[in-house]
Amino acid sequence: MNDDQVRAALEKLLKGGLKTESEERAETDAVRTKIVTRLQSIAAKDYAAKLTVAGFLDHPYATSEDGVLEACETCMYFEQHRQFCNLPELSLAVKPQWSCRMWRI
Ligand code: SF4
Repeated sequence: MNDDQVRAALEKLLKGGLKTESEERAETDAVRTKIVTRLQSIAAKDYAAKLTVAGFLDHPYATSEDGVLEACETCMYFEQHRQFCNLPELSLAVKPQWSCRMWRI
């Protein structure tokens, strides 16, 4: 599948009500490492599992403390020109307004 096809498949999963682990957020090294380890055990094309473990949402995530909106478009792993997440354990075509708990500025 090309990027557009992957993005459409992911959107279908998210709109279809896939329950993802959007919390707890990867705010500490310990949580981050735990999530990365789980992501590394997922097959590259098991998109539902990747979305679930990474805690994808089809909208930005509003943090409770400071109201910051976490979205792919403000994440250091987002490739603007390709609309792509280059976090190695994800490597997925995404949309700017999606989010996941691996978000990092
Ligand atoms: S790591 Fe960043 S760019 Fe990748 S899906 Fe999560 S929020 Fe989006």
